[in-house]
Amino acid sequence: MKNFIQTGKHIALHSWQEENPRIVAGFTTRDEGYSPMPFLSLNMGFHVNDDPVAVQKNRKSFAEEIKFPVQYWVGTKQVHGTDIVQIRKEDRGQGSLDFETAIPDADGIYTKEADVLLTSLYADCVPLYFYSPKHELIGLAHAGWRGSVGKIGPKMIQIWCEKESVNEEEIKIAIGPSIASCCYEVDDTVIKEVKAALGNTAEPTVFMENEAGRYQLNLQRFNEILFIQSGILPENITISNQCTSCENDVFFSHRKEVGKTGRMMSFIGRKGV
Ligand SMILES: [Zn+2]
Repeated sequence: MKNFIQTGKHIALHSWQEENPRIVAGFTTRDEGYSPMPFLSLNMGFHVNDDPVAVQKNRKSFAEEIKFPVQYWVGTKQVHGTDIVQIRKEDRGQGSLDFETAIPDADGIYTKEADVLLTSLYADCVPLYFYSPKHELIGLAHAGWRGSVGKIGPKMIQIWCEKESVNEEEIKIAIGPSIASCCYEVDDTVIKEVKAALGNTAEPTVFMENEAGRYQLNLQRFNEILFIQSGILPENITISNQCTSCENDVFFSHRKEVGKTGRMMSFIGRKGV
């Protein structure tokens, strides 16, 4: 079974939706929206100087595609940090049709409640998805290299285990499309922190040195190892094989488009009865 499948304007987290048809989860592409260049065309970000009316149209048309009303969406102001906020039904609508009302300073969000769509924005960073079928918990985290070395993924696991009495072994993780090691070169400053986060264990699959001080970093694999170190079962981790920079016709890429581009949206929600 394929884990991620492109359908309409998004890449669906197919395996989770098959298992539980009430789950709505995936990642938007850049196709079939209303934004002009350089946000062509399904830009979901209000904070990138696109026309807000176009972004609202993009969001409303996407709400129809996934049949999850835009009034039920919750968005945050992401800061490449590791703060995680629990979302409740009364937070719905914050950040859904503007940037100002978005939940401040949060790169991770989760909820226990149905009819809440958690959302998060991307142009190369790694979208992390969390799901506990038994406890009906869902979560999202935004992990660029800073969030990854700050261990935002393991932090969500810790919160669920300590505050929500979840067992690591029942948590499912998905790692969505992001810039892959083919297109992601970093320097010593980043690699030093990556090594420290891994506990200075030798992990040859996480980065490869090109030349002195230049490395290709595999952020998805890095997060996968951090999850396994946190007690997540390898068979419960699903990883997309799409690179946002290689597939620039499908995705916005901050690196490829040198900063001037739109944003994809990761989302997860659970429909009520
Ligand atoms: Zn690539």
